Amino acid sequence: MHVPSRISAKPRLRRSASLTTLALLGALAAATVLPALAPSAQAQGGQPDYVAGELIVQFKADATDAERAAALARVAGRVRKGIGGPAARGNGVAGPAVAATGLAVPDAIRRLQNDPAVEFAEPNWRVTHQEVSTDTHYANGSLWGVYSSDKPAAGPSATTNVFGSQAEQSWAAGRVGSSNVYVGVIDEGIDVSHPDLVQNIWVNPGEIAGNGVDDDGNGYADDIHGWDFANEDSSVYDGPAGDTTVDSHGTHVAGTIGAASNGRGVVGVCWNVKMISAKFLAPGGGSVSDAVEAVRYFIDLKKNRGVNIVALNNSWGGGGYSQAMMDAIVDAAKEGILFVAAAGNSGRNTDLWTNYPSCYNTTQAAGYDSVIAVAAIDKTGSRPSWSNYGQSTVDLAAPGAGIVSTLPNGYLGAKDGTSMAAPHVTGAAALYAASRPGATAAGIRSAVLNAAAGTPTKSMSRKCTTSGRLNVTGF
Ligand code: CA
Repeated sequence: MHVPSRISAKPRLRRSASLTTLALLGALAAATVLPALAPSAQAQGGQPDYVAGELIVQFKADATDAERAAALARVAGRVRKGIGGPAARGNGVAGPAVAATGLAVPDAIRRLQNDPAVEFAEPNWRVTHQEVSTDTHYANGSLWGVYSSDKPAAGPSATTNVFGSQAEQSWAAGRVGSSNVYVGVIDEGIDVSHPDLVQNIWVNPGEIAGNGVDDDGNGYADDIHGWDFANEDSSVYDGPAGDTTVDSHGTHVAGTIGAASNGRGVVGVCWNVKMISAKFLAPGGGSVSDAVEAVRYFIDLKKNRGVNIVALNNSWGGGGYSQAMMDAIVDAAKEGILFVAAAGNSGRNTDLWTNYPSCYNTTQAAGYDSVIAVAAIDKTGSRPSWSNYGQSTVDLAAPGAGIVSTLPNGYLGAKDGTSMAAPHVTGAAALYAASRPGATAAGIRSAVLNAAAGTPTKSMSRKCTTSGRLNVTGF
């Protein structure tokens, strides 16, 4: 499994040096104290990279109840929960399900693979977020990822960065997003009360908060801001007051996508957007089955409830190929939902060392590739040693080192990783969708990639399909 490189266990406080340079953004209190960063999730040394005693199994549609029961009996198994979407919750009859097994996972898979009732059986891979330690990059103290090469005509920006995403240029042209564009954040939870996020967090109009009833009938009671697939409850933010570690990664990712422009703190690439939280990572990571369920949740929201979900942000990775995950991404692609994925932090060529989910490709199954795999660059345009790359499996680079964004309980802080690069691209997709409401997912993806191809970047030359970096000029 691919593991974040270094983990800083020792909390430290630093003072931001130059956050006040963001006056253009209407932003940022001076001298914000950056809180300690979260201890990063990482694989447990020596343990297998799948959940022990658990499988993902999908029965054939025409298998009878008796045949399913017989197959499960062969592996001392039982279905724990269906992950095929709201209609399949709890029974596992339609689509994939998580099953407990009394056998070792490889043995159980071998037994089920040839069972006539079984479509596929696979490990429930463990996955982690794609953040790396920020020690060396920590105190850059700027939102360089949204800067542009030239000072925009409107606004008093004092800082430029040719390697920024150029988001400033779109804002200056009045393109700042739309509250009718929705993105899903499949990650840790999000502090939905953070003052920079609250106005851009989805509020489910079909639910009455706290009544314990699934008012909108989507299978999830009180899913006001999304769902916590890790804990199976409606609370997508679980940190205590004053804490900056619990749900830190998800909160940071959300801020890069869509922190509001509100005269304080930070701003995201897309100022107006609605973010829906699918929490599935806990401090120790998560399982791919919960990510599958999250994607199915978003498909239902778009397909059956009219929520205009443009993209899903996936700043996580690990484990091997999952048919259940691939099927979910394909079904999302068919609903016009892009799947933006961090390329991973192993410093490897993913053409050779496959990284999931960034290496899934839906071209054959959906008629276009909905996956956008994102490497990281730093503010000098270099590709950090930890960023994965791949001429055929990574699409573009985006800012991913020294990225300042939101942390729980109103804090701000910097993080590093392809985890931080992916949400710049998700924000860009949202920005493009907002200014061109008729754009298809394939069209949005082409726009993002064409713009990157038009922005050649030395460190990415022949290291990704575009050899370039995120550039949202004109989005
Ligand atoms: Ca509900």
